[in-house]
Amino acid sequence: MSDPQDPLSVEVHPGRPLVIVDVDEVLGLFMQGFGRFVAERGYELRVDRFALFQNLYRPGDTQSLDFNTGRALFDDFFRIGSEHMEPTPHAVDSLTRLAQNASIVVLTNAPGHARAPRARWLARHGIGFPLVINEGPKGAAVAQLSARTTGPSAFIDDLLPNLDSAAEAAPAVHRFQLVADERLRALAPAAPERHARIDDWRALATAIEAALGGGRR
Ligand SMILES: [Mg+2]
Repeated sequence: MSDPQDPLSVEVHPGRPLVIVDVDEVLGLFMQGFGRFVAERGYELRVDRFALFQNLYRPGDTQSLDFNTGRALFDDFFRIGSEHMEPTPHAVDSLTRLAQNASIVVLTNAPGHARAPRARWLARHGIGFPLVINEGPKGAAVAQLSARTTGPSAFIDDLLPNLDSAAEAAPAVHRFQLVADERLRALAPAAPERHARIDDWRALATAIEAALGGGRR
């Protein structure tokens, strides 16, 4: 049985370079969109540390929301709110540019119910590339995807645990960290000795083209 979300069944050209790319805080401005969504429901998202549920408050409170309330807002956002997220500046044109010479697979950690809204969001912005919904560290999926082409691969994510996991499971894959939200950039942990950190999409696309043009593998 072929599962359309499976890294082994999405379309990957067997000889071209491959770019594997995250959505939240990479292709799209997640914190901005989620912040707007929770504000419409009477809550606040304060971007004062690199966290998610611990940054949700009732206005005026100093204690963050309980986990279950935060989790419910998160689930609802992916069900009904994430389609209104703004793309990161220059993400769409840069990814379109990369797609001229590479296969693109979108690899996102999101609840299963986010699949259809997320696919619609990608399509609406003209980047309706194959979509894999993942859970947990992304290294295994990155390894499975990159093994499906003889060309070189690149992986872009905002979170170090996902990049570290890819480094372990698929060390030949070029890794890049991009943090889309300007407020988060100074707060986001980086490890430039392990993963190139480039927060501007146009500069990132140029670096990826250079990495993938080298004909590794
Ligand atoms: Mg992300």
